[in-house]
Amino acid sequence: MRISYSSLEQFLRCPYLFKYIVLDKNKLPKTKEAALGTSVHEALNFQFKKSPLFPTLDEVINFYNKRWEERIAKVEFKDDYEKDAMHQNGILMLSRFYKKNPAWNFTILGLEMRFEAPFIDPETNETHTLSGIIDRIDKLDDNTYEIIDYKTARRMPAQDHADKNLQLAIYHLGALARWPHLRDKKIRLTLQFLQHGETLVTSRTSEDLEETKRRILVMIHTIEEHIKNNDWPAKSSPLCAMHPYNKICPMWSYLYQKKDISVDIDEKAAKDALSEYIGIKSAHAASNERMMELQAILLGFMKNKGFSRLFGNEGYVTRNLREQDIYDVEKAKSALDAIGKWEEILTADHKKLEKILPSLPSQTQIRLHEEAFLRKKTTESLLMRRKKIDPEDLE
Ligand code: SF4
Repeated sequence: MRISYSSLEQFLRCPYLFKYIVLDKNKLPKTKEAALGTSVHEALNFQFKKSPLFPTLDEVINFYNKRWEERIAKVEFKDDYEKDAMHQNGILMLSRFYKKNPAWNFTILGLEMRFEAPFIDPETNETHTLSGIIDRIDKLDDNTYEIIDYKTARRMPAQDHADKNLQLAIYHLGALARWPHLRDKKIRLTLQFLQHGETLVTSRTSEDLEETKRRILVMIHTIEEHIKNNDWPAKSSPLCAMHPYNKICPMWSYLYQKKDISVDIDEKAAKDALSEYIGIKSAHAASNERMMELQAILLGFMKNKGFSRLFGNEGYVTRNLREQDIYDVEKAKSALDAIGKWEEILTADHKKLEKILPSLPSQTQIRLHEEAFLRKKTTESLLMRRKKIDPEDLE
């Protein structure tokens, strides 16, 4: 499989979005945040290009202005005030950065450097390729190499974020694939936060990089499993509000159905079921039996029509698919015994095993998957929230 960090990130955020963008190759309309981020990145790239002299700050800002106008051609803003504020924010970031980082002070090895890092899956012997684009690579005076990624986000995360950052580890692998002689050199990994004029610096050992490869393999196997089952659940998060895809996503599409289409009999039954379902739940007065019947109507309707969420006047329900990996516990025992973790699940059950799984070394996760994994178990339920949502609330 050929995969980039951004595709992996999309998969972790929401498998449905991953399928739509990465596998089906659909393009999402650009957001204003993306327009700002891209034009600032392009201007920073320009700042470090010498022809024959490095550009002045005015030239960098002019370059940014042109790119900004191109990038926002199809982007919607709340009003002109918001558009102007975002544009000025870009100028501020670039001016501050330019003054603090004169281009002639750096030895730059690469700008917007594309990489491809192949690695072999020991399970299948298949070669996977990690791909990506590194914002900048510098050579420092003490013979250290620095991989830099610019961030235009408003929030500056904690140091821990850089230390565990998958993107930086993948970029480290990418730089080594391109320049294998860096293998013995000191490499530092830097996140440069342009809104704050701050950096977070970290590094990875060769063991860390091996662990990264194993982590990616676990993710690739999970993606392959989803491809095999053609199973792409929509996973809602605050990020849903950031992109306009929600009109065609099963988590939200029910809200955007045309109001003038006649309500079919199934939908009437489902809507009635939803009203009753929410009423009963909130009043704590329902019999379990009727709840199960209503759930069956709702889940049946949503499954047949392809909706992950159903909205009514009293609230909405979300079809929640919970997958549980079923292991052969005896075989899992020997894998966990080997690293002294068996005690933690002595009264072994699947829930406990699932709970400690993410904290295990990926080598052990792979071993469990290879030797003890039996099947996936999917259970369905409805999650309810008493809140009326209108499409306008989402825009
Ligand atoms: S709107 Fe949310 S749930 Fe739907 S595809 Fe996008 S991220 Fe996933």
